[in-house]
Amino acid sequence: MADRPPAPARVLVIDDDEACARTLSNLLKRLGAVEVTTASNAAEAVERLDLGPFNLICCDLHMPGRDGVETMRLFAERRVKSPIVVVSGADPKVLKAAQELGKGRGLAIAGVLQKPFGIADLEATFVRVATLTSPRSRRPVPKVSAEELEHAIRADQLLLHYQPQIALHSGELHGTEALVRWQHPERGLLTPDAFISLAEATGLIAPLTDWVVKEAIRQCAAWQRAGLNIGASVNLSAQTLRELDLPDRITEMALSAGLTPERVTLEITESKLADDVDSLLDITTRLRLKGFLLAIDDFGTGFSSLTQLRRLPFTELKLDRTFVSGATSDADARSLLESSVQLAKRLRLKTVAEGIETEEEWNLLVWLGVDLGQGYYMARPMPGEKLTPWYASWQSKVA
Ligand code: C2E
Ligand code: MG
Ligand code: MG
Repeated sequence: MADRPPAPARVLVIDDDEACARTLSNLLKRLGAVEVTTASNAAEAVERLDLGPFNLICCDLHMPGRDGVETMRLFAERRVKSPIVVVSGADPKVLKAAQELGKGRGLAIAGVLQKPFGIADLEATFVRVATLTSPRSRRPVPKVSAEELEHAIRADQLLLHYQPQIALHSGELHGTEALVRWQHPERGLLTPDAFISLAEATGLIAPLTDWVVKEAIRQCAAWQRAGLNIGASVNLSAQTLRELDLPDRITEMALSAGLTPERVTLEITESKLADDVDSLLDITTRLRLKGFLLAIDDFGTGFSSLTQLRRLPFTELKLDRTFVSGATSDADARSLLESSVQLAKRLRLKTVAEGIETEEEWNLLVWLGVDLGQGYYMARPMPGEKLTPWYASWQSKVA
């Protein structure tokens, strides 16, 4: 194939089994690797790092002495940046766990190679290595200061982009998720990863959230007046859910904009649910009493207990993008997706799938009976004024 990525130029192969290391080295060289260095244990591997940087590290899991997991721990301590492929004949679940562990430690994991593997499997990992090392994925998160952010909130530098949420059975527009952006005077348009954690750490999340909720409500009310009967979803940080007057503040915003609270869904990330359950229960119950809808966001990524899912008055469950993207190729991800959909249905929660990128994913989710979907396949988040023209072209596509 003409567009196949080339083999990484300099590769480090770590394997205690000499024959395995030799076979892999030969394959790599056949595919165009310029230099393949081998190491038979963790200590040797660490020594070889001085010869680096390597464009790829292939690390065996089963090794006497320090195993692959311990070796990757050493790499993480040394902040190794090279893409790493985990190689092993172990149970695929063990390989997957090792891969997740590596990612969790901040390593650039480019996938797994299940032994015995062929040339096609190796080439497939080169595609992931190329993606990991592309300039886009290496784009650093810009550094911004609390003073700049405080000024941005006051000086109207924040704006919202809206991502359509589509009813999967009919293709109709059901609502939008409001996603905050910062039009930074020097650094351009920033996404939330550049400033939400700073806002949370400095207390600026409270004025930021107030701004976001108010603006989303204003836009949603404007759409209603223009005859577009859709809802708006807004993300709330865990910190915000400690402010006991939040339900009153948000209700006031909706009422003064002339919007019924039933049009507004507040999203709470699953990974934050463990914090301060009492005030969470207080605030979420009062938000529901006032008529707002409540979504559990990124479901499947955190470790929230099923008990919490039962105790908190959620109306909607958002299936995380990692399940959606994994489900068409990975049997375990698909099982988790199916069970989550069934669980949500039994708990009478509306289901929303995040991150639909392909027609294949769309079809699977329709088949599973998921209620709503959002993702690049339908539309990327966009400025509010682009929504109506986008919807017209979407309708002509699905008609
Ligand atoms: P989220 O709430 O899970 O929002 C979905 C994110 O996935 C958005 O990223 C969206 O652009 C992205 N996305 C949507 N469809 C696709 C797809 O098909 N493929 C891929 N790869 N990505 C897709 P964004 O806008 O960068 O927001 C990231 C996170 O920042 C949000 O995740 C949310 O947790 C947080 N966030 C956004 N706006 C706010 C806000 O106003 N307040 C707070 N507290 N957090 C916010
Ligand atoms: Mg969200
Ligand atoms: Mg999400």
